[in-house]
This record gives sequence, structure tokens and C-alpha cells, in this order.
Amino acid sequence: MPEGDSVYRQCKMLRAALQGQVLESSDLRVAALATTDLSGRTVVDVVPRGKHILIRLSEAPNADDLKAGAEALTLHSHLMMDGTWRVFERAGTPRDGAERGSGARAASSAGTSPAARGKRGRQPYRRYASVRSRAEARTPLSADVSIGQGSHTIRAILRTAAVDAIGYDVKDVRLVPTRLEDQELVGYLGPDILGPDWDLNEALRRLQAQPDRAIGTALMDQRNLAGIGNVYRVEVLFMTRTNPWAPVGSLADAKLTEIVKLAHKLLNLNRDRPLRSTVGHPATGRPLFWAYGHYDQPCRRCGTRLKRGEIDDAAPSITEPCDPSAVQHLRQIAWCPRCQGEDL
Ligand SMILES: [Zn+2]
Repeated sequence: MPEGDSVYRQCKMLRAALQGQVLESSDLRVAALATTDLSGRTVVDVVPRGKHILIRLSEAPNADDLKAGAEALTLHSHLMMDGTWRVFERAGTPRDGAERGSGARAASSAGTSPAARGKRGRQPYRRYASVRSRAEARTPLSADVSIGQGSHTIRAILRTAAVDAIGYDVKDVRLVPTRLEDQELVGYLGPDILGPDWDLNEALRRLQAQPDRAIGTALMDQRNLAGIGNVYRVEVLFMTRTNPWAPVGSLADAKLTEIVKLAHKLLNLNRDRPLRSTVGHPATGRPLFWAYGHYDQPCRRCGTRLKRGEIDDAAPSITEPCDPSAVQHLRQIAWCPRCQGEDL
């Protein structure tokens, strides 16, 4: 399940492949953007904001002539539950080493006719290896994202001379002027846990502004702090022995600070790891998490069977009844009735 750390890694991969490169073509497979042509624009940067991916593009190459719509743009996408961006080296394109004229690859590409290159260009994609470590390449991405989606799930393709960056099942694909990023895309977000401007006190202030809210839902509200998803919610609450339904106002300041600091620590620890884990470096085959997904299994701290709970992330507070139709906001959590105070 993508959370702030996986979005951070996705942006790192996209930045390595795209930053400074000119788009040869684009293919945005959402109705509102179906006729959009981003070719000729340069990818200025790829920035994570909480769980949002912002691909910033330069103004159109002939901006003086085009006027409206030619300004610098930001392509927004969100991974939601199962979206992913992948980068593929375009078959037949020289790698860095080849361009420097070294090795057999350069020799083999020299003198190739355009027709032959075109034919090679229709060969299957190869995984773009240079932005992935060997360990990462061997590791299934299932902890973060599902892979192996078919072409029908493609929502965006950005093509440069060297790579295709393809967004599978990415949601909320939008294009807005970069100057309106805050206004239209991410201005509502709370402090970004993995952002350069992370602000612990501001996150605490926002959480405490709604004291009646269950801590479990408040942590997931990206307006309070951005980047936490269900995995980190479950883990942080378990590790700090916090009842998921405890009102924020019932928690001591020190406890709330401990919770937020731990979330910050765990996301930062995992942001460059190929496989997310909250239990340190797990041995092969060992559980990656303390509680997440471990329903009905013994608590690793006290042996009590972990319970399966349901938490409504749409509920604005614990005192207001949940909308029974809002099933998309109900998420399963694992928690220990003994360590995390069932009687609370
Ligand atoms: Zn326990």
C-alpha cells in the first residue's frame, strides 16, 4: 500500500530518469487530458508532497506564440491503493556508457539504420536499471505497490529520448499551472513528514485542534500531517501502546509527541529501503511489521491475540455517526486489546 515513503521513492526514481530531459511525447489517458500534448517541455523536477506526486514541467517550447496554456505546468498524480509509476529504458537507445563511445554496446549501435532502430524500438521494454539497486530489482514491490498491471491500466506515459515513464493505475491525473500547485493541488496538506519543511509543532497543533477526534483517524487526515497511510497508522499506534479510538484530547502532550515523532522516524527510516519494515532489518521470511496484517495472531509483546478493527477515516469525529454508505473510507486495522487498552 503506497504511503509517504513509497511516494518518496517513486519520485526519486522518476527524478533520476526524467529531470532535465525533454519530453518527446506524452499520452495522458484520462478524458479531460486526452488531447494534451506535452512534447517539447522539459521535466524541471519531480516532487513528493505527502502522498502526491508532482511532475513539474517547463513552459511550452514556443511559449511566446502559444500564450494561454503555455506556461509551466505540473502533472499531478496519486497512487491511492495500487497505482505505480515505472520507468523503462527505451529499447535501442544508448545508455550513458554507450554515448561515450565505450564498449560493445556503442559498437553495436553504431551504423544501425533508422529502420533497424525503429524495429528495435518495438521490442519489449526493459526495466530501467540505473535507478534501481540490485537488491531493489530482486525485491517484489508488493509491500508498496502492485506490479504487473496490464496496459489497460496505463493512465500516463511520458517519453524522453531514453525512457518511457508509465503511470499504471495512478489516480487523479491532473495538469495545473505550477504557480497554482498550492491553490489547486496540495495547499491544504499539513506538514509533510518527508518534506524538507517538516514541522513537528505545526503537526501537533493541527492534531490538537480537534480534540474529540479518534487518534486513528486524525493521523490519517492529510490536513493534519501528510504521508501516513494505514500501515504506519497501525504500526505507530501499536508501538506506542495507543488505543486507535482514543480521542486526541485524552492523550498527554508527551504521548502525542511520541506518536508523531515515531511516525516521522519510521517513514524516514524506510524512505530509501526497497522493502518497508518497522521491525528493523528483518531476516528473510520474518514478519515486516509488528501488527499490520497480523489479525488473530499473537501480539509480539504480550501474546494476546490481535484484534481486527474497522476504522472510519471519513468520520470527522468520534461523536458523529459514520455514514453507512461511506464504505470506501472503512479500513481494517490490527490492534492488541491488552497493550492498546481495550477498556479505554
Ligand atoms: Zn499486546
